[in-house]
Amino acid sequence: MLEFRREGIYCPQGNFYIDPWLPVDYAIITHAHSDHARVGMKKYLCQKLTEPILRLRLGSDIQVQAIEYNQPITINNVKVSLHPAGHILGSAQVRMEYKGRIAVASGDYKIQDDGLCTPFEPVRCHEFISESTFGLPVYNWLPVSQINANMANWVQDNKANGITSILIGYALGKAQRIMKALEGVGDLYVHYAIDRVNRAFTDSGIQLPSYQTLDFSNKPKGLEGEIIIVPPSLFGSNMLKGIPRAYTAICSGWMQVRGARRWRSADAGFAISDHADWQGLLTAVKACEAEKVYVTHGFKSEFSRYLNESGVEAEEITTAFGSEEELDETLPKE
Ligand SMILES: [Zn+2]
Ligand SMILES: [Zn+2]
Repeated sequence: MLEFRREGIYCPQGNFYIDPWLPVDYAIITHAHSDHARVGMKKYLCQKLTEPILRLRLGSDIQVQAIEYNQPITINNVKVSLHPAGHILGSAQVRMEYKGRIAVASGDYKIQDDGLCTPFEPVRCHEFISESTFGLPVYNWLPVSQINANMANWVQDNKANGITSILIGYALGKAQRIMKALEGVGDLYVHYAIDRVNRAFTDSGIQLPSYQTLDFSNKPKGLEGEIIIVPPSLFGSNMLKGIPRAYTAICSGWMQVRGARRWRSADAGFAISDHADWQGLLTAVKACEAEKVYVTHGFKSEFSRYLNESGVEAEEITTAFGSEEELDETLPKE
Protein backbone atom coordinates (compact mmCIF):
# COMPACT_ATOMS: atom_id res chain seq x y z
CA MET A 1 0.00 0.00 0.00
CA LEU A 2 3.06 2.25 0.21
CA GLU A 3 5.54 3.29 -2.43
CA PHE A 4 8.49 5.56 -1.84
CA ARG A 5 8.80 7.75 -4.91
CA ARG A 6 10.81 10.74 -6.09
CA GLU A 7 7.88 13.00 -5.18
CA GLY A 8 7.32 11.51 -1.74
CA ILE A 9 5.44 8.77 0.10
CA TYR A 10 2.78 7.42 -2.28
CA CYS A 11 -0.32 5.26 -1.85
CA PRO A 12 -0.96 3.71 -5.30
CA GLN A 13 -4.44 2.35 -4.50
CA GLY A 14 -5.57 5.79 -3.36
CA ASN A 15 -3.45 7.77 -5.85
CA PHE A 16 -2.35 10.30 -3.22
CA TYR A 17 0.88 11.36 -1.53
CA ILE A 18 1.68 12.03 2.12
CA ASP A 19 3.76 15.16 2.84
CA PRO A 20 5.25 15.14 -0.69
CA TRP A 21 8.27 17.33 -1.40
CA LEU A 22 7.64 17.75 -5.14
CA PRO A 23 4.39 19.09 -6.70
CA VAL A 24 1.64 16.44 -7.00
CA ASP A 25 -2.15 16.48 -7.54
CA TYR A 26 -3.25 15.24 -4.12
CA ALA A 27 -1.28 15.70 -0.90
CA ILE A 28 -2.32 14.58 2.57
CA ILE A 29 -0.45 16.79 5.04
CA THR A 30 0.43 15.46 8.50
CA HIS A 31 1.26 18.93 9.94
CA ALA A 32 2.27 22.43 8.92
CA HIS A 33 6.06 22.36 9.53
CA SER A 34 7.82 23.38 6.34
CA ASP A 35 9.55 20.05 5.72
CA HIS A 36 6.11 18.37 5.58
CA ALA A 37 3.87 21.08 4.10
CA ARG A 38 5.19 22.48 0.82
CA VAL A 39 3.79 24.72 -1.88
CA GLY A 40 2.72 23.56 -5.33
CA MET A 41 0.19 20.80 -4.62
CA LYS A 42 -3.12 20.94 -6.55
CA LYS A 43 -5.13 19.76 -3.58
CA TYR A 44 -4.39 19.40 0.14
CA LEU A 45 -6.08 17.32 2.80
CA CYS A 46 -5.32 18.01 6.46
CA GLN A 47 -6.74 18.04 9.98
CA LYS A 48 -9.08 20.96 10.79
CA LEU A 49 -6.68 22.63 13.26
CA THR A 50 -3.89 22.56 10.67
CA GLU A 51 -5.84 24.44 8.00
CA PRO A 52 -5.31 28.03 9.28
CA ILE A 53 -1.56 27.41 9.77
CA LEU A 54 -1.30 25.76 6.35
CA ARG A 55 -2.97 28.77 4.69
CA LEU A 56 -0.76 31.15 6.65
CA ARG A 57 2.35 29.38 5.44
CA LEU A 58 1.41 28.32 1.89
CA GLY A 59 -1.05 31.05 0.89
CA SER A 60 -4.72 31.68 1.57
CA ASP A 61 -5.69 30.59 -1.98
CA ILE A 62 -4.56 26.94 -1.75
CA GLN A 63 -7.23 24.27 -2.23
CA VAL A 64 -7.71 22.51 1.11
CA GLN A 65 -10.11 19.93 2.45
CA ALA A 66 -9.95 19.76 6.23
CA ILE A 67 -11.37 16.90 8.31
CA GLU A 68 -11.63 16.05 12.00
CA TYR A 69 -9.61 13.37 13.76
CA ASN A 70 -11.23 9.92 13.43
CA GLN A 71 -13.48 11.01 10.56
CA PRO A 72 -12.96 8.42 7.80
CA ILE A 73 -13.24 9.40 4.15
CA THR A 74 -12.78 7.29 1.03
CA ILE A 75 -10.21 8.22 -1.59
CA ASN A 76 -10.31 5.88 -4.62
CA ASN A 77 -11.37 2.86 -2.52
CA VAL A 78 -8.84 3.53 0.22
CA LYS A 79 -10.36 4.37 3.60
CA VAL A 80 -8.38 7.30 5.01
CA SER A 81 -8.58 8.81 8.48
CA LEU A 82 -6.45 11.16 10.59
CA HIS A 83 -5.42 10.43 14.18
CA PRO A 84 -3.63 12.62 16.75
CA ALA A 85 0.18 12.56 16.47
CA GLY A 86 0.80 14.73 19.56
CA HIS A 87 3.54 16.67 17.73
CA ILE A 88 2.08 20.18 17.27
CA LEU A 89 -1.40 21.66 16.91
CA GLY A 90 -3.38 19.68 14.31
CA SER A 91 -0.63 17.13 13.68
CA ALA A 92 -2.01 13.85 12.42
CA GLN A 93 -1.09 10.28 11.68
CA VAL A 94 -2.57 9.15 8.36
CA ARG A 95 -4.31 5.78 8.53
CA MET A 96 -4.90 4.01 5.21
CA GLU A 97 -7.00 0.87 4.85
CA TYR A 98 -7.41 -1.17 1.68
CA LYS A 99 -8.77 -4.73 1.47
CA GLY A 100 -8.06 -5.38 5.15
CA ARG A 101 -4.47 -4.06 5.02
CA ILE A 102 -3.71 -1.06 7.22
CA ALA A 103 -0.79 1.35 6.91
CA VAL A 104 -0.11 4.35 9.16
CA ALA A 105 2.16 7.29 8.29
CA SER A 106 2.86 9.10 11.53
CA GLY A 107 4.69 12.21 10.25
CA ASP A 108 6.45 13.70 13.28
CA TYR A 109 5.07 12.65 16.64
CA LYS A 110 5.61 12.69 20.38
CA ILE A 111 4.15 10.66 23.19
CA GLN A 112 4.36 13.30 25.95
CA ASP A 113 1.22 15.37 26.44
CA ASP A 114 2.33 19.01 26.12
CA GLY A 115 -1.07 20.39 27.18
CA LEU A 116 -1.44 22.24 23.88
CA CYS A 117 -2.08 19.71 21.15
CA THR A 118 -4.27 16.60 21.10
CA PRO A 119 -2.23 13.79 22.69
CA PHE A 120 -0.79 10.96 20.56
CA GLU A 121 -3.08 7.99 20.01
CA PRO A 122 -1.59 4.69 18.87
CA VAL A 123 -3.26 3.22 15.77
CA ARG A 124 -2.97 -0.51 15.10
CA CYS A 125 -1.61 -1.32 11.67
CA HIS A 126 0.40 -3.75 9.55
CA GLU A 127 2.88 -1.13 8.30
CA PHE A 128 4.01 1.92 10.27
CA ILE A 129 6.06 4.86 9.00
CA SER A 130 8.04 6.39 11.85
CA GLU A 131 10.45 9.27 12.23
CA SER A 132 13.57 8.81 14.39
CA THR A 133 14.74 12.40 14.99
CA PHE A 134 15.87 11.45 18.51
CA GLY A 135 16.31 7.73 17.90
CA LEU A 136 19.21 7.18 20.30
CA PRO A 137 18.93 6.01 23.93
CA VAL A 138 20.64 9.22 25.17
CA TYR A 139 17.49 11.18 24.34
CA ASN A 140 15.18 10.89 27.33
CA TRP A 141 12.91 13.83 28.07
CA LEU A 142 12.05 14.95 31.58
CA PRO A 143 8.32 15.08 32.38
CA VAL A 144 6.72 18.21 30.90
CA SER A 145 5.83 19.58 34.35
CA GLN A 146 9.45 19.29 35.50
CA ILE A 147 11.02 20.89 32.45
CA ASN A 148 8.44 23.70 32.68
CA ALA A 149 9.39 24.23 36.33
CA ASN A 150 13.10 24.32 35.40
CA MET A 151 12.41 27.00 32.81
CA ALA A 152 10.27 29.02 35.22
CA ASN A 153 13.01 28.84 37.89
CA TRP A 154 15.64 30.07 35.44
CA VAL A 155 13.43 33.00 34.45
CA GLN A 156 12.67 33.85 38.08
CA ASP A 157 16.36 33.84 38.99
CA ASN A 158 17.06 36.17 36.09
CA LYS A 159 14.18 38.40 37.08
CA ALA A 160 15.46 38.66 40.64
CA ASN A 161 18.77 39.94 39.22
CA GLY A 162 17.15 42.37 36.81
CA ILE A 163 18.14 40.23 33.85
CA THR A 164 15.90 39.75 30.81
CA SER A 165 15.30 36.14 29.75
CA ILE A 166 15.45 35.41 26.04
CA LEU A 167 14.17 31.98 25.02
CA ILE A 168 14.85 30.58 21.58
CA GLY A 169 12.25 28.21 20.19
CA TYR A 170 10.79 27.32 16.84
CA ALA A 171 7.83 29.59 15.92
CA LEU A 172 5.34 26.79 15.27
CA GLY A 173 4.81 24.54 18.26
CA LYS A 174 7.77 25.24 20.52
CA ALA A 175 7.18 28.96 21.08
CA GLN A 176 3.62 28.33 22.23
CA ARG A 177 4.80 25.64 24.65
CA ILE A 178 7.31 28.08 26.13
CA MET A 179 4.57 30.70 26.48
CA LYS A 180 2.36 28.22 28.35
CA ALA A 181 5.21 27.09 30.58
CA LEU A 182 6.00 30.67 31.59
CA GLU A 183 2.44 31.97 31.91
CA GLY A 184 2.26 34.18 35.01
CA VAL A 185 6.03 34.15 35.62
CA GLY A 186 6.57 37.49 33.89
CA ASP A 187 5.37 39.61 30.99
CA LEU A 188 5.68 37.71 27.71
CA TYR A 189 7.07 39.41 24.60
CA VAL A 190 7.28 37.55 21.30
CA HIS A 191 8.84 38.16 17.90
CA TYR A 192 6.32 38.95 15.13
CA ALA A 193 6.95 35.57 13.41
CA ILE A 194 5.62 33.90 16.56
CA ASP A 195 2.73 36.36 16.79
CA ARG A 196 1.63 35.33 13.25
CA VAL A 197 1.51 31.66 14.24
CA ASN A 198 -0.24 32.54 17.51
CA ARG A 199 -3.00 34.24 15.51
CA ALA A 200 -3.54 31.06 13.48
CA PHE A 201 -3.80 29.17 16.79
CA THR A 202 -6.38 31.66 18.07
CA ASP A 203 -8.32 31.29 14.79
CA SER A 204 -8.59 27.59 15.64
CA GLY A 205 -9.99 28.46 19.08
CA ILE A 206 -6.80 27.69 21.02
CA GLN A 207 -6.30 29.83 24.13
CA LEU A 208 -2.78 31.15 24.62
CA PRO A 209 -1.39 33.25 27.49
CA SER A 210 -1.57 37.00 26.86
CA TYR A 211 1.55 38.55 25.35
CA GLN A 212 2.87 41.55 23.49
CA THR A 213 4.55 41.55 20.12
CA LEU A 214 7.98 43.08 20.35
CA ASP A 215 8.97 45.78 17.88
CA PHE A 216 12.69 45.33 17.27
CA SER A 217 12.88 48.28 14.88
CA ASN A 218 13.10 50.68 17.82
CA LYS A 219 15.51 49.72 20.55
CA PRO A 220 13.24 47.73 22.92
CA LYS A 221 13.04 49.35 26.38
CA GLY A 222 11.56 48.50 29.75
CA LEU A 223 12.09 44.76 29.44
CA GLU A 224 14.30 44.29 32.51
CA GLY A 225 13.48 40.94 34.07
CA GLU A 226 10.82 40.11 31.50
CA ILE A 227 10.56 37.25 29.01
CA ILE A 228 11.29 37.44 25.28
CA ILE A 229 10.60 34.50 22.94
CA VAL A 230 12.17 34.48 19.47
CA PRO A 231 12.71 31.94 16.67
CA PRO A 232 16.11 30.20 16.16
CA SER A 233 17.10 32.41 13.22
CA LEU A 234 17.59 35.32 15.64
CA PHE A 235 20.15 33.55 17.79
CA GLY A 236 23.35 35.60 17.85
CA SER A 237 21.74 38.45 15.89
CA ASN A 238 22.41 42.14 16.50
CA MET A 239 18.71 42.51 17.31
CA LEU A 240 19.16 40.39 20.41
CA LYS A 241 22.57 41.82 21.22
CA GLY A 242 20.86 45.23 21.42
CA ILE A 243 18.92 44.10 24.48
CA PRO A 244 20.94 45.09 27.56
CA ARG A 245 21.46 42.66 30.46
CA ALA A 246 19.88 39.56 28.95
CA TYR A 247 20.52 35.83 29.18
CA THR A 248 19.65 33.47 26.36
CA ALA A 249 18.32 29.91 26.58
CA ILE A 250 17.90 27.43 23.73
CA CYS A 251 14.81 25.21 23.93
CA SER A 252 15.45 22.09 21.88
CA GLY A 253 15.79 18.37 22.27
CA TRP A 254 19.40 18.75 21.09
CA MET A 255 20.19 20.42 24.40
CA GLN A 256 20.11 16.94 25.95
CA VAL A 257 23.68 16.46 24.75
CA ARG A 258 26.58 18.85 24.70
CA GLY A 259 28.35 19.27 21.41
CA ALA A 260 25.88 21.50 19.73
CA ARG A 261 28.57 23.83 18.38
CA ARG A 262 26.59 26.87 17.35
CA TRP A 263 24.42 26.85 20.44
CA ARG A 264 27.22 26.48 22.99
CA SER A 265 27.40 30.24 23.45
CA ALA A 266 23.90 30.28 24.94
CA ASP A 267 23.58 30.84 28.70
CA ALA A 268 21.19 27.93 29.23
CA GLY A 269 19.59 25.03 27.40
CA PHE A 270 16.31 23.23 28.00
CA ALA A 271 15.74 19.85 26.36
CA ILE A 272 12.13 20.23 25.37
CA SER A 273 11.07 18.71 22.09
CA ASP A 274 7.99 18.15 19.97
CA HIS A 275 9.46 14.82 18.91
CA ALA A 276 9.38 11.48 20.69
CA ASP A 277 12.44 10.54 22.73
CA TRP A 278 14.01 7.07 22.48
CA GLN A 279 11.47 5.43 24.81
CA GLY A 280 8.66 7.30 23.09
CA LEU A 281 9.64 5.91 19.69
CA LEU A 282 9.80 2.38 21.08
CA THR A 283 6.44 2.84 22.83
CA ALA A 284 4.80 3.97 19.60
CA VAL A 285 6.24 1.12 17.55
CA LYS A 286 5.14 -1.42 20.13
CA ALA A 287 1.64 0.04 20.55
CA CYS A 288 0.81 0.04 16.84
CA GLU A 289 1.77 -3.65 16.61
CA ALA A 290 3.08 -3.22 13.07
CA GLU A 291 4.90 -6.11 11.42
CA LYS A 292 6.95 -3.70 9.29
CA VAL A 293 8.33 -0.29 10.22
CA TYR A 294 9.70 2.22 7.73
CA VAL A 295 12.04 4.77 9.31
CA THR A 296 12.03 8.10 7.51
CA HIS A 297 14.29 10.66 9.21
CA GLY A 298 16.67 11.16 12.11
CA PHE A 299 18.95 8.46 13.51
CA LYS A 300 17.53 6.09 10.90
CA SER A 301 20.20 3.42 10.77
CA GLU A 302 20.60 3.24 14.57
CA PHE A 303 16.87 3.06 15.21
CA SER A 304 16.08 0.57 12.45
CA ARG A 305 19.03 -1.62 13.45
CA TYR A 306 17.73 -1.70 17.01
CA LEU A 307 14.23 -2.63 15.82
CA ASN A 308 15.52 -5.39 13.56
CA GLU A 309 17.62 -6.80 16.41
CA SER A 310 14.60 -6.78 18.71
CA GLY A 311 12.46 -8.68 16.24
CA VAL A 312 10.53 -5.92 14.46
CA GLU A 313 11.28 -5.77 10.73
CA ALA A 314 12.46 -2.24 9.93
CA GLU A 315 13.76 -0.46 6.85
CA GLU A 316 15.36 2.95 6.30
CA ILE A 317 13.69 5.23 3.78
CA THR A 318 15.23 8.30 2.17
CA THR A 319 13.02 11.37 2.49
CA ALA A 320 13.32 15.16 2.61
CA PHE A 321 11.94 15.42 6.15
CA GLY A 322 13.56 16.68 9.29
CA SER A 323 15.32 19.98 8.99
CA GLU A 324 13.36 22.87 10.37
CA GLU A 325 11.72 22.56 13.74
CA GLU A 326 14.61 21.19 15.74
CA LEU A 327 17.36 23.72 15.02
CA ASP A 328 19.48 20.91 13.66
CA GLU A 329 20.94 22.55 10.60
CA THR A 330 24.28 23.21 12.24
CA LEU A 331 24.37 20.28 14.60
CA PRO A 332 26.68 17.33 14.22
CA LYS A 333 25.01 13.92 14.22
CA GLU A 334 26.88 12.30 17.02
ZN1 LIG B 1 7.36 18.64 12.49
ZN1 LIG C 1 9.62 17.07 10.42
